[in-house]
Amino acid sequence: MVLVFTDLDGTLLDHETYVFEPALPALERLAVRGVPLIFCTSKTRAETEYWRARTGNRWPFVVENGGAVYVPPGSFPFPVPGAVRRGEYEVLEFGTPYSQLVEALRQAEQRSGCRVRPFHRLSAEQIAVITGLPPPQAELAAQREYDEPFEILDPQLAEQLLREIESQGFRWTRGGRFYHITGNNDKAAALRALTALYRRLEPALVTIALGDGLNDAAMLAAADQAFVMPSAQSSRLLEMVPGARLAPQPGPVGWARAILEMVPE
Ligand SMILES: [Mg+2]
Repeated sequence: MVLVFTDLDGTLLDHETYVFEPALPALERLAVRGVPLIFCTSKTRAETEYWRARTGNRWPFVVENGGAVYVPPGSFPFPVPGAVRRGEYEVLEFGTPYSQLVEALRQAEQRSGCRVRPFHRLSAEQIAVITGLPPPQAELAAQREYDEPFEILDPQLAEQLLREIESQGFRWTRGGRFYHITGNNDKAAALRALTALYRRLEPALVTIALGDGLNDAAMLAAADQAFVMPSAQSSRLLEMVPGARLAPQPGPVGWARAILEMVPE
């Protein structure tokens, strides 16, 4: 049995246009073979639900850089240990509440003198402009629980800012567009938690992970097979994850080729 963990932006979705349609043959292959496809993203629950609906995905998913794992009803024939119930989902919560992240970022900004532009200071319209998302999706992107994306406005002071984040016991990472502040969570811990659940069904499980940003490094390193998608960060990422392979093309085209190779008919 194979279990696939994938980042969304710049990986299954095109970095600029957010299209996934070039990956349809590979999505079809996974569906036919019954391979769980786990979205593992810095997006919010609301955004990820949108993309699950668009792509017909019914598997568990990971939001906000590993802040939480959402398990839809019927995913496992046993209750998920440690999960809390939220709506129809069983939820494994790894992240730190959003209000604490916002406050820690404010403190780091003040102490370092490095100005930032975090999502919570932006309107949905402004988020739409800087992400290229349509306004309704930008609304979904603003509904954050465990991860605050931000831009750095004074790059020469970036190091001090990031140190101040760490000195308060928080983490930072970088996706394709933004820096992110999180608590003590990452995509790898979420991958391990879900893999452990699926191993109860199938001990000889092989995990595949695909990603394009530094926020994917830990997830890629934790998987049995890893694909780095070509991006501005891919050479750095290949250094950080020595066993990883570079996908043949960026975005959904390269994603599909990697999946079709790894999951034969
Ligand atoms: Mg990405």
